[in-house]
Amino acid sequence: MSDTYDVIIIGAGPGGYVAAVRAGQLGLKTAIVEKREKLGGTCLNVGCIPSKALLQSSHHFEMAEHEFANHGIKAQVSLDLKTMLGRKDKVVDDLTNGIAFLMKKNKVDHIVGTGVVTAAGEVTVSPSGKGKKKQVLKTKNIIVATGSESSPLPGVEVDEKQIVTSTGALALPKVPKSMVVIGAGVIGLELGSVWRRLGAEVTVVEFLDVVLPGMDGEVSKQMQRILKKQGLNFKMKTKVTGAKTAKSGVTLTMEPRDGGDAETMKADVVLVSIGRRPYIESLGLDKIGVKVSDRGFVEVDADFQTNVEGIYAIGDVIGGAMLAHKAEDEGMVCVEIMAGQTGHIDYDAIPGIVYTHPEVASVGKTEEQLKEAGIKYNAGKFPFTANSRARCNGDSDGFVKILADAETDAILGCHIIGPQGGDLIQEVVNVIEFGGSAEDLARICHGHPGLPEAVKEAALGVAGRAIHI
Ligand code: FAD
Ligand code: NAD
Repeated sequence: MSDTYDVIIIGAGPGGYVAAVRAGQLGLKTAIVEKREKLGGTCLNVGCIPSKALLQSSHHFEMAEHEFANHGIKAQVSLDLKTMLGRKDKVVDDLTNGIAFLMKKNKVDHIVGTGVVTAAGEVTVSPSGKGKKKQVLKTKNIIVATGSESSPLPGVEVDEKQIVTSTGALALPKVPKSMVVIGAGVIGLELGSVWRRLGAEVTVVEFLDVVLPGMDGEVSKQMQRILKKQGLNFKMKTKVTGAKTAKSGVTLTMEPRDGGDAETMKADVVLVSIGRRPYIESLGLDKIGVKVSDRGFVEVDADFQTNVEGIYAIGDVIGGAMLAHKAEDEGMVCVEIMAGQTGHIDYDAIPGIVYTHPEVASVGKTEEQLKEAGIKYNAGKFPFTANSRARCNGDSDGFVKILADAETDAILGCHIIGPQGGDLIQEVVNVIEFGGSAEDLARICHGHPGLPEAVKEAALGVAGRAIHI
């Protein structure tokens, strides 16, 4: 293993490992330093992948328990949580091993240990395990891709057993009788759904008066109604002020956000999911003068370079949408620019998906954002109750809404609640990327009977000519 590189990447999440693959493809001498034994970062180890594995398994369980009978299928259903968790771990293992294979294939040196930027052009790696010697590596460029961690809530101390972050909530050894989720964001609604489906009484406590803040207002409201109907309890406009753990469970103290009497609530397990913050602990960036924002995000220019030449940063650690696909695209573009090519990311065309059932998917501007910016738009909306495939599937909660510029008809945003909403949004992302209009989308032939027909109908609806409603 040589110790002089074209690029060293610190952190092997979706940002870092994709940057490493691309650097390898471009013939750059590349190393990736990761402190976890397994590659793949938050996303593969304790994020996107294990959560989606459990969402799928718990969805099957709920379907078997409550929906099969509607299709004339009689089944006696019971839960084997150990197998469900084991399957999730196997999915994670297989995929992280796949990343190790990709490193080898692209001739990337994989170094296990904690990386510290000791100077521009120098990374010192402390391997985990006693007696192992530090390695000092020289390089032309460094990419910081160290990701993010769960934001703490003062007074509510995480032990990953009774008071958990998403990491603990992905590995609870038994289904809690009761669970309080603090924060009605993406993690809270996804993991709250998992444990409710498996039998827990789940209450979501949220500081604001809406779930999924930042999403289109109509989507937030309808999604809360749907989740309530499924059995999630919501306590809105409420501030958690402290937590006490005992063998018998956790006692939370909380008070109304806008003033009023404090109250307590007991639960077997509490999930803290109030957001994530950038992770740059012990990375040494302060010592070499890399600029960091008030909120701890590494500041970069349009080429992902920090104020120190040769030091770049990508992914969650630079802020913006904390999403795996955003980190991946930044990894690719950053390396291409470093190699003298050009690159660009259209941040208005990055989809966001919440993998509840039904799924929530969004791209571009919300109605609230367009109104605030004074942009005139036409909206087309189509409900899944009028989509024949959704009716065949018995899965017709939700709608597709497309927002298009009133003058040019260019698609400015799309918001979906619906079965496979996360897959359906992709065709709208593509149309936005190509600068297409609602009319363009409306004139594309869509297979019948199919869920994507709801997207076409919403596009037709922009000009007030949806067919099936
Ligand atoms: P990370 O994936 O966080 O990777 C950073 C890596 O750097 C880590 O492996 C860490 O160990 C390593 N590291 C840190 N410091 C050092 C150091 N000094 N030396 C060596 N290594 C270091 N996003 C989606 O798009 N879709 C989803 O469905 C989704 N689901 C999620 C579910 C959960 C429960 C969570 C928590 C997140 C989810 N996300 C999802 C967000 C997604 O995981 C992140 O946006 C993504 O992982 C960010 O990638 P990254 O490469 O920037 O950082
Ligand atoms: P989030 O920002 O999505 O939601 C946090 C919620 O907590 C918000 O509704 C906020 O108002 C609320 N909140 C904040 N402080 C609070 C307090 N003191 N008391 C009560 N409520 C409070 O954050 P998250 O759900 O923790 O997720 C973190 C990140 O991980 C997100 O940015 C998301 O991008 C990413 N993620 C993505 C996916 C996905 O793409 N499907 C899944 C999980 C996580």
